[in-house]
Amino acid sequence: MKHPGIRWHRRAEGPSVGIAALLALPVLIGCDCGPSELESRCRSVRGQRVTVRAGARVSPDAVVGGTEVGCEDEDAARVVVALHEIVGSLPTASRPRLVVELDPVVEMGQAPVTHVEAHRTAGALLVGRSVAGSIHRTAWLHEIAHVRMERAPVSEPVAERLLSAAEEGVADYYAAAHAGTPHLRRGGGAIVRDLERPPRLTALDWASLSGVAPGWDPHRAGWALASGAWAARGADPDLAEDLVASLAVQARGTSGDAPAATLGAWVERCPRSSRGLLRAIVHDWVPAELLREP
Ligand SMILES: [Zn+2]
Repeated sequence: MKHPGIRWHRRAEGPSVGIAALLALPVLIGCDCGPSELESRCRSVRGQRVTVRAGARVSPDAVVGGTEVGCEDEDAARVVVALHEIVGSLPTASRPRLVVELDPVVEMGQAPVTHVEAHRTAGALLVGRSVAGSIHRTAWLHEIAHVRMERAPVSEPVAERLLSAAEEGVADYYAAAHAGTPHLRRGGGAIVRDLERPPRLTALDWASLSGVAPGWDPHRAGWALASGAWAARGADPDLAEDLVASLAVQARGTSGDAPAATLGAWVERCPRSSRGLLRAIVHDWVPAELLREP
C-alpha cells in the first residue's frame, strides 16, 4: 500500500496552516506510513546489479565525488527497479554491474545531463532526474552497450570517426536485439531511429568521414549499420553480444587511419561465430572504394 504522506512533509517547505493540518492527518489517524511499494521493490534488489549515486561532478575524463542514494529517493528507486529488470533479462555471462550518477554537475561549457548517457571513461550511466522514471528500455540498452564496450579512442581522426559510428551502430543493434524491436525510442516513447527505415548514406556523408566536408554524424552512420544487421538477422541477441565483444577491446597497436585497415581489424576482432556476417554487413555499409587498401 502506498503512504506518500511522509515524503510530502520532507518536500514541502513552509506549508500553509491548512496544508500542514492536512499533512498531519495520517499521524492523527494512526497511519503506520511504511515504505511505498516502489521503495519496497527497490530495497529487495538494491545493490545486486545497480548502484545509484548523486552529487558527483563530471568532466569528459572523470566522475568525481558524490554518494550513494537509497531507495527512499523516488528517482533512485525508479532507476534501480527498471535497470535491475533489464540487466536480469540479458544473458547471464554478460550482465554488467551498473553505476548510475543522478543529475551530475557538469563543467562550465558542458551540456547538462537531461536524458541518459554513458560516461566512456568512468563506465557509468549519467541520468537526468527529470526523466529518471520515463527512460525507454531501448534507450537504457543502447547506453548499457556503450558502457560494456568502453572502447578507448584512437588517435587517427578518420579511424576514430569510423569506429565511433561503428560503436553507435552496435549500440543500436544491441538495444533492438535485446528489446526485440527495430524501433529505438527515447523517454515518452517517441521513435528516434527505426532500423527498418534507415537513412541512405550519400557521397557527402562519406566525404565528411575523411574531414573534406564537415558534419560526420556517428548516430546517422551507425543507424545505417545497425539496420544492415537487423535486415540480416532481425533480433539476434547472440549476434549483438558478438558485436559488442568486437568493439570491447582497445584498438591498440593501431591499424593506421585508412578505413579498409580499420574495418578489417574490427572484423578480425569479432568472435568467429559472427565474423563472416559482420564482414558482409560492413561491405553493405561502406562504399566499395573505402574498402580498397590505399
Ligand atoms: Zn550512443
